[in-house]
Amino acid sequence: MSSPQPSSILPTYARSNLVFERGEGAWLITGDGRRVLDFGAGIAVNALGHAHPHLVEALTSQAQKVWHISNLYQNPEGERLAKRLTDATFADLVFFSNSGAEALEASIKMARKYHSANGQPERYRIITFEGAFHGRTLATIAAGGQKKYLDGFGPKVEGFDQVPFGDDAALKAAIGPETGAILIEPVQGEGGIRPVPTERLRALRQLCDDRGLLLVFDEVQTGVGRTGKLFAHEWAGISPDIMAVAKGIGGGFPMGACLATAEAAKGMTAGTHGTTFGGNPLAMAVGNAVLDVVLAPGFLEHVQQMGLLLKQRLAELKDRHPAVIAEIRGQALMVGIRTHIPNTDLAKAAENEDLLLITAGDNVVRLLPPLIIGEAEVAEAVGRIDRACQKLEDEMRQPLKGAAE
Ligand SMILES: *Cc1c(COP(=O)(O)O)cnc(C)c1O
Repeated sequence: MSSPQPSSILPTYARSNLVFERGEGAWLITGDGRRVLDFGAGIAVNALGHAHPHLVEALTSQAQKVWHISNLYQNPEGERLAKRLTDATFADLVFFSNSGAEALEASIKMARKYHSANGQPERYRIITFEGAFHGRTLATIAAGGQKKYLDGFGPKVEGFDQVPFGDDAALKAAIGPETGAILIEPVQGEGGIRPVPTERLRALRQLCDDRGLLLVFDEVQTGVGRTGKLFAHEWAGISPDIMAVAKGIGGGFPMGACLATAEAAKGMTAGTHGTTFGGNPLAMAVGNAVLDVVLAPGFLEHVQQMGLLLKQRLAELKDRHPAVIAEIRGQALMVGIRTHIPNTDLAKAAENEDLLLITAGDNVVRLLPPLIIGEAEVAEAVGRIDRACQKLEDEMRQPLKGAAE
């Protein structure tokens, strides 16, 4: 294969050499006709796969009408989407953004403004958890607290206190008079598909109620059906005060949202926050089309069934390849394979079998397939992972090349 041309794109990503020309459902197709099974879905974004006819129709028909109007005028498609989102969730109000990080920025600002509106502006601090990921803006890298994302970017945005994942004593000790909110992903995504047990989520809700704190969920990766409920926190039977959403909500069109109760949002009056592109008519049309499919009867049950099947089949693989697979975890179609070998080796071996997977923290490989996959695609993916594991084991068994010479 010829080496790629020097790139003029800022090299912040170590990209694979694959070049895709088009997609169909759970498949991506290269220019030379290679069909690759997409179990990464553009990092949990292509919830309905590629080129879903209903989404293509929504986008193209809106494109004929109007692309952009700004937030200075009425937004009927946005109103319709916000109403449907609030009808389906705990929330009363929605702010539309273009990305996950912006949805988090809105959530963080809203939490701070709430306490300020209550006459307690000093309660601006937010507790977050080790291994968290909330985005790459200055505030969200501070919230995520990961050294590798903070290093070299100057003073960290003030006001985030990070506690170890799952350490109740540390959490309680971290709450002070300046604490205003707790921010958490119901299942850590990029941290390595680490679910927060439902009883812990309930305990967090109780703790927030007892201490007058806002509970903020980052459902950017877990939301819009990924875990088999519209939002992952529904499994715990509790709700947050504020929630950030993105990734799957646009089915591949860039879009995010911050959902909140009227009470939590009470500080966000006219002029306090804004966005030029957020709520763009193209995004709103596609967002409504995504909801048409995800909220249709039986869709979330399908996600749950495919999730169960996938996990079951992966558990069998774990028994067959104990040298490679250490653990299978996750919820519905948000699954992690923790590996004994470097996770990048398994992701690369899968790519060699024409299967896309995504690495995550804690030496995990993520499976985030489109929610529309069927049994055949689950079987196909598991077969490819099986072959990838087999090849990795064969390599491990081989004496080091050159050692015998
Ligand atoms: C991807 C992600 C973000 C950031 O979203 P962007 O659209 O990349 O800004 C935030 N939180 C979680 C949990 C994510 O998975």
